[in-house]
Amino acid sequence: MKIRFWGVRGSIATPISAAQIQSKIVAVVAAISARDIESENARQSFIANLPEYIYGTIGGNTACLEIKNESGDRIILDAGTGIRACGKQYVHEKNAVYHLLFSHFHWDHIQGLPFFDPAYKPGTTLNIYSDYPNMRRFLREQMQPPYFPVKMEALTKNIVWHDIKDNVPFKIGSTEVMTKSMFHPGGSHAYLFMENGKRFIYATDVELQQRDFQRTEENAAFFENTDVLVLDSQYTIEETAQKEGWGHSAFCYAIDFAVFWNIRHLYLFHHEPMYDDKKIHTILKSAQWYSDYVCGGKVIVHLAMEGREIDL
Ligand SMILES: [Zn+2]
Ligand SMILES: [Zn+2]
Repeated sequence: MKIRFWGVRGSIATPISAAQIQSKIVAVVAAISARDIESENARQSFIANLPEYIYGTIGGNTACLEIKNESGDRIILDAGTGIRACGKQYVHEKNAVYHLLFSHFHWDHIQGLPFFDPAYKPGTTLNIYSDYPNMRRFLREQMQPPYFPVKMEALTKNIVWHDIKDNVPFKIGSTEVMTKSMFHPGGSHAYLFMENGKRFIYATDVELQQRDFQRTEENAAFFENTDVLVLDSQYTIEETAQKEGWGHSAFCYAIDFAVFWNIRHLYLFHHEPMYDDKKIHTILKSAQWYSDYVCGGKVIVHLAMEGREIDL
């Protein structure tokens, strides 16, 4: 499986602000010395050594991941604003088939769909999966005046709706997939993908509960010994206390969870819109420290960033 992040921000699309760009420029200017600009090599080495939070950005688009599996299927997880750029790479393709899986139907997970260009091509086949019986209505309702000028009828006629069920495995080409209900206002669904003995879980908009730490057969079958977990970790521990019931997790609980279920790689996901790149990288540092503290760094913590890829 090849996994790519197209949108990693939680709750609402968050374009980088002028003030944030200015603070990156100020930090670069403050760090630079005469030696760093004396030759082309020195310049390149200076740039290469800039911290990631200065040189890059986490990205402001809301949830969207893409998986390409061994049988060449295109699996898209959620249709946040990140799906727009995902679709642009396929504008010249005809008769393509996509598999679109929804965690739930909050705005930040559906609002990109009307901007997914391939969906408007008559030859496209769109397989849509959810455990929500009302998914057809939810998606249709956002594509109608006064909310949007183009109705869902303008999309390809080849939409195949898949009413999936919790803990009942199904196949997408070479990949076995399973979904599981998690705690979030209105509910949300995590997805497990299995191929060639590798396991990948996408679990966004999840407020981890005690029940998620219970060693039931069902929990173990879904979570245990997973190679890569993308998990909602929008909050710090202080925020979790203030925002109990809002449906998101603290990064340290995410690590506790990964330790409990023997998960190797954890990607912090659904980043808080109030936080800039520097703050989110600070959270990563704290998370890495916490992983070292509780399990000797056995859980390797990463940031979900737009454009980042995982080869599994
Ligand atoms: Zn969300
Ligand atoms: Zn949500």
